[in-house]
Amino acid sequence: MTEALALRDAAVVWHPFTQHATSGPPLGVTRGDGAWLTLDDGRRVLDAVSSWWVNLHGHGHPAIVEAIRAQAATLEHVIFAGFTHEPAVRLAERLVGLARRAGAPSTRAFYSDNGSTAVEVALKMAFQAAIQRGGTRCDRFLAVRGAYHGDTLGAMAVGEPDGFHPLFRKLLPTVDFVPTEDLEALDRVLSEHPGRHAAMIVEPMVQGASGMRFHSAAWLRGAFERCRAAGVAFIADEVFTGFGRTGPTFAFEHAGIAPDLICLSKGLTGGFLPLAVTLASAAIFEAFLYPDIERAFLHGHSYTANPVACAAALASLDLYEAPVCVTRRAEIARETAAHVRALDGQPGFRNARALGTLGAVELNVPATYGGADSVAIRAAALDLGVMLRPLGATLYALPPYCVSTDELSAIYAALTTLGRRGSRTSP
Ligand code: PLP
Repeated sequence: MTEALALRDAAVVWHPFTQHATSGPPLGVTRGDGAWLTLDDGRRVLDAVSSWWVNLHGHGHPAIVEAIRAQAATLEHVIFAGFTHEPAVRLAERLVGLARRAGAPSTRAFYSDNGSTAVEVALKMAFQAAIQRGGTRCDRFLAVRGAYHGDTLGAMAVGEPDGFHPLFRKLLPTVDFVPTEDLEALDRVLSEHPGRHAAMIVEPMVQGASGMRFHSAAWLRGAFERCRAAGVAFIADEVFTGFGRTGPTFAFEHAGIAPDLICLSKGLTGGFLPLAVTLASAAIFEAFLYPDIERAFLHGHSYTANPVACAAALASLDLYEAPVCVTRRAEIARETAAHVRALDGQPGFRNARALGTLGAVELNVPATYGGADSVAIRAAALDLGVMLRPLGATLYALPPYCVSTDELSAIYAALTTLGRRGSRTSP
């Protein structure tokens, strides 16, 4: 970063997930094109993590740029209570259509701004629907050990209790946590508190932020079936996994389940603008239909269904569904599987794993989330021309779908080098 920008940043900016007492200056980024970022010291690095998992088709994609430009020149924003517009309706039609084709009973799209609000909306909808259906004893949620669903209060409540947010526990609603792969634990909690759970929330197939932890489709299906039998709504948090990251459009498709609520954000606009959607089933929606306003879903944000963000999402969906992208995603998945097989068994690594376009591996060195060690790994990766963001000792690649075969090889070559170094000395 140029000295002047670093100093100006240090004087006025408070960065996310950053300990300002110890962190060095952030890296200035001047440009993004395709899978590449240009840093303000002139280096070009591959964005191997899709800029916190949001970028789907590459930086600066001209089709999304043009859609944003055209929509901003037509209608930049309008209040969404009592008003509507074409981009929001069309996007809702397409997202509901995608979810239904995947087997979910979705009929309605509720817009908000980010992954955390998509989760807040789902939790509040499930809770209010349960109460309005007569479940007056409903006062708990079910969630999974190791989960991450965001940083607002409700989203924190259903995240790993010993994770990022333990300080806030006393402010949060009651949540029963169960481990993955243990359906008996889920059975026990359900029978200890019958009729008390409004919903269970799960990151289908992969818990992203806690370290790309995979679970089986069989466990996911078992959890869904038990919730269904107990009348507990099932929320699929697809904020990270949505739009093909794990192969199918939604990760819940691996388990053939039909979630009542689906949370989407991150890749929704192709990584251009903040937007989120909570897809709800007809049964959830109908639990809000009464003559009085009190039983409506009294939730909304100023920028709900921002037309420019919806236009970006529509352009991104066009790109996502184009045959060239479908083919490339399948190729990236095959190439990723081959790279991960090659990492497996190398001295510096353990537990190499892949699902769809995601590849992950553990370094055989201790590293804490955001600690000096993971900062050092990040810096070493940049020197190798790749932007990574390790989750503790977990290194992973989740590139945008525009990544070429050679670029993907360069990303995994950097991972291999980091592992080799780690097997000799801590980076
Ligand atoms: N849910 C999942 C599965 C996530 O991975 C994240 C963010 O990483 C969120 C929710 C929160 O999304 P946001 O950071 O947009 O609030």
